[in-house]
Amino acid sequence: MRYSKLLGKTLKDSPKDEVSINAKLLLRGGFIDKLMAGSYTLLHLGRKVEQKIEQIVREEMNDTGAEEILMPLLHPKEIWNETGRWDKAKEVMYQFEKNEKEYALSFTHEEIVMNLLRKHVSSYKDLPVKVYHFSTKFRSEARAKSGILRGREFLMKDLYSAHESEEDFMRYYKEITKAYIKTFKRMNLDVIVTEADGGVFTKSKTHEFQVLAQSGEDEIIYCPGGDFSANAEVSPVKEGKQCDLGHGPLKRAKTIEVGNIFPLGTYYSEKMDGMFTDQKGGRKPFWFASYGIGITRLIGTIVEVHNDDKGIVWPESVAPFDVHLIHLRGVTQNQPFDNAQGKKSKIKSRGDEVYDKLQKAGVEVLFDDRDDVSAGEKFADADLIGIPVRLVVSQKTGEKIEWKKRSESKTELLNIDEVLKRLK
Ligand code: ATP
Ligand code: MG
Repeated sequence: MRYSKLLGKTLKDSPKDEVSINAKLLLRGGFIDKLMAGSYTLLHLGRKVEQKIEQIVREEMNDTGAEEILMPLLHPKEIWNETGRWDKAKEVMYQFEKNEKEYALSFTHEEIVMNLLRKHVSSYKDLPVKVYHFSTKFRSEARAKSGILRGREFLMKDLYSAHESEEDFMRYYKEITKAYIKTFKRMNLDVIVTEADGGVFTKSKTHEFQVLAQSGEDEIIYCPGGDFSANAEVSPVKEGKQCDLGHGPLKRAKTIEVGNIFPLGTYYSEKMDGMFTDQKGGRKPFWFASYGIGITRLIGTIVEVHNDDKGIVWPESVAPFDVHLIHLRGVTQNQPFDNAQGKKSKIKSRGDEVYDKLQKAGVEVLFDDRDDVSAGEKFADADLIGIPVRLVVSQKTGEKIEWKKRSESKTELLNIDEVLKRLK
């Protein structure tokens, strides 16, 4: 991708109405654009990161045997009335009337999945079912101050599973817990699995996946040894209490919730007549669970955790590009072209040549090919955007290429083969 062609370049100053680090850096870096509070466009760089995150989640969900589908976002009132959530979840749902019929925009999909199950599953032989999708959720959030961490419209991966027995349901619930920990690890995020309340979803305890972060809106009480964590809202114990297993006093910390899983049991099936015929010929309700991951919230969380005073430091697995290639047109900054017409075309073609070679080798490159920007600005932009490897070609580097990692200060001069080898 040529940076000169990209819609949405870096901004020098932080937008005044944004307070969170993720919103400041993502807006300044040209990853997102704000339409209104809690509503953002993912520009190309942001969309690339989102797609990388989505693909990691997809691979891990597929690994558990789940199948990807896509469900509607416009829901009729009747389906929400079956469980009573049209009224119970009124505060969070966007509800409206059109041509004398009432609808809601999706804030979750339990009722829609239950409707699918009762149509398509009749026998224990059809179970278990594990379906998921990536789609937009709409929630009327009162506080939308944390940038992309809390949208009124945001992307979620939500998975739903139905089982013939409590045993199989709990087995899969545990499998998903492990899959989630692995999913977040692949994005360089360590999560603390935390007990929490089920809100408008369930009366049972649920499990949240919390990332330690100063900017987090949640607080947890947890054991540093890893054997206890509860959301501070529901914790039966306070910080400072000694851990029963001898790991010292429990801590209290701010966190961001990146995922939440809900063991819903037979509640939804019973309300919606989601039944199947068991091995003995009896009618039984499905054992049902739902599992969410905040896809756009993850973009913001990764930025909150992986940044420095110059900008974002993307983990390789989710970076929008593998390499940020910069070509400099002169020896010094802002040197005019008039005395170096030949050099300009020579150096420029060197940049193009490296760009082509990298792309042919399957490397994803953001190529800063701008002619009207100083070297200093290009370097500052590369640091702000945060792609893991910066490559520079200039008169000074000649046939070689300057290599620098975003996370290190050391630079090295390499030839193209060495660069390609390192990127493999
Ligand atoms: P929160 O407590 O932060 O309001 P929630 O518990 O209401 O979130 P869930 O229903 O558990 O959210 O949704 C599953 C996941 O979707 C959450 O773990 C979170 O990562 C993400 N998510 C929830 N609400 C938002 C939002 N407003 N903006 C972005 N992501 C969200
Ligand atoms: Mg939650």
